[in-house]
Amino acid sequence: MSKVPELFGCNVFGDSAMREKLPRDVYKALRHTMQNGTALDPQIADAVASAMRDWAVAKGATHYTHWFQPMTGVTAEKHDAFISPIGEGKIIMEFSGKELIKGEPDASSFPSGGLRATFEARGYTTWDPTSYAFIKDDTLCIPTAFCSYTGDILDKKTPLLRSMEAISRQAVRVLKLFGKHVERVLTTVGPEQEYFLISKEDYQKRPDLILTGRTLFGAKAPKGQEMDDHYFGSIRPKVKRFMNELDEELWKLGIYSKTEHNEAAPGQHEMAPIFTTANLATDQNQLTMEIMRRVANRHGLVCLLHEKPFEGVNGSGKHNNWSIATDSGENLLDPGKTPMDNAQFLFFLTAVIKAVDEYQDLLRISVASAGNDHRLGGNEAPPAIVSIYVGDELDAVIRSIIDGTSYIQNGKTTMDIGVTTLPRIPKDTSDRNRTSPFAFTGNKFEFRMPGSSFNIACANIMLNSAVADELMQFADELEKADEFEPALNQLIRRELTAHSRILFNGNGYSDEWTIEAARRGLLNLPSTPEALLRYTDRKNVEMFARQGVYNYQEMQSRQDITMEEYAKTIHIEALTSLDMLDKMIIPACMEYSGEIAKGVAAKVQIGIEALSEKRAIEMLTEKTAQLMTARDDLVEAVAREPAELNARGLYQHEVVIPAMERARAIADDLEHRVAKKYWPMPTYADLLFYV
Ligand code: ADP
Ligand code: MG
Repeated sequence: MSKVPELFGCNVFGDSAMREKLPRDVYKALRHTMQNGTALDPQIADAVASAMRDWAVAKGATHYTHWFQPMTGVTAEKHDAFISPIGEGKIIMEFSGKELIKGEPDASSFPSGGLRATFEARGYTTWDPTSYAFIKDDTLCIPTAFCSYTGDILDKKTPLLRSMEAISRQAVRVLKLFGKHVERVLTTVGPEQEYFLISKEDYQKRPDLILTGRTLFGAKAPKGQEMDDHYFGSIRPKVKRFMNELDEELWKLGIYSKTEHNEAAPGQHEMAPIFTTANLATDQNQLTMEIMRRVANRHGLVCLLHEKPFEGVNGSGKHNNWSIATDSGENLLDPGKTPMDNAQFLFFLTAVIKAVDEYQDLLRISVASAGNDHRLGGNEAPPAIVSIYVGDELDAVIRSIIDGTSYIQNGKTTMDIGVTTLPRIPKDTSDRNRTSPFAFTGNKFEFRMPGSSFNIACANIMLNSAVADELMQFADELEKADEFEPALNQLIRRELTAHSRILFNGNGYSDEWTIEAARRGLLNLPSTPEALLRYTDRKNVEMFARQGVYNYQEMQSRQDITMEEYAKTIHIEALTSLDMLDKMIIPACMEYSGEIAKGVAAKVQIGIEALSEKRAIEMLTEKTAQLMTARDDLVEAVAREPAELNARGLYQHEVVIPAMERARAIADDLEHRVAKKYWPMPTYADLLFYV
């Protein structure tokens, strides 16, 4: 691994490749587009396309694809070969500017939530020049946005770019008031990715893992994570080899994979990259998940990205570290060194606090899925109630602003925004509140609710748009003020007072917090269907319209798609449960008790009473009968699913999931009682403690 610098980014048509391969004026024009988010000059597209093709072909690529992020969680690609016939059975490798800029995948099967009738299947993809093209296998992948012919957006990338524009627009206005002239403000994101690795051999024996990504049955292993011996523990050699290769693959794609370590649960690990701009971080995280799966496969492993693959041990999340920075690199959430910088910091902090309070619902919705519902509020991940942790120091500062009192630190500092320097706000690592869904960690916020399999675009769209909207209101007010500083002081104090209810430094897992949060009027939306129904609330529709991110139809379609995804997921889980009960678990229980029964007959024949066998058979028969009843109840629950989408989602949460859980509880109990060789699938101990 001595050649990391050469390896890094070798499969990306990034800045150095562009500088080297593009004519100077083309490079400059493209750079301008990338940096300032301006429209791409179609004139230069041909030149870029041909340079890109030469670069890719030299690296062995034979195909290209417009790589995009439809509204399902995955990325999509349709490969076209570069070849173009020139007569006499000959071909040349061709790729035009038109092909670079626009693609027309036959995308009728991607969910559009009614935005695009299937008979009118043509959506089109357009190159997003702010994100770099890259080579995966033999294919040049061009990051693109995906729209319908009527212009409605059908992907996750376009609204993300729009939200980044929105926050940039407003932050630039605000910074002008602070006497700073910047062209553009960027949102920066570093997503920490959690995942499980299990052996492929075990995986293939579990229909639940194959079909749903999680175990639908499985008794707790005698050992879980209670010894805390896995977290940061030494990494098994097989996993270490996986991580090394993963790093190498990610580096080739220009992804700054920085930290690899074990996580809390056995078999659980994490990869943290170095942060970058939100759109690149999103692309790269999508790629990271794909590469993780592939590399695992090469090592006889399977990478599970589901939020809750195993009951009884932690699930997997994706901490979305988020900040905003100017184009010259000033982090706007970094408390400054001068009084005026402090004021600016407090101003942006106030905007974030207000945004999170007013759009708790949107943040909750951005992390809503059937998988993540198992995590949120599960005493391992943040609760489903959104609140902000700012740490004791900053909390004291905020309280003193609200109360108009002096902030005393070491007996000398008084707080007056814009006049006094803030005390240094320590980037504490010791007592960080792991139970908070949204924590300030020194110079960025860490949004901890996203699930491990999520596209982080959603969370960042909500955050960027909501904060942009607050900045817009603030800028409107301050631009009109006669005197900036008093108006600023007043605004910060007023808004912190109005939104202090969202600040909570205590234990987010405690029952007291649920009660206290309700008293404060904070939302508690434990399930996806309940949360989703609020998406198109008027205030949300108006906010997204003001920021030019979504129109009403686009929002309605997203709500429907997410609800449908939820409904389908639960439906598939229920059917898979039934299948496993009927084909594996119930037959295993019967076989085992039947086998014992044979022993009884044999013993009785030689005059032995076989009391323990009889007891075992009675117990097994009784429990198997209970399991069959629970199975019948589940069949009935599934049969009665309502047709209407929202009703179906709610019904599944309220009726189908509990029916599945009842059957599971009995089956898991039986797993303890049935001899190992009769149990038809690998157990939790097999899955989690492999070598
Ligand atoms: P911590 O120890 O607080 O988790 P790390 O340095 O490990 O801090 O950072 C965690 C993640 O946060 C990394 O992905 C890192 O790149 C990212 N990060 C750090 N600073 C920023 C920032 N200004 N904006 C966005 N992400 C950031
Ligand atoms: Mg962290």
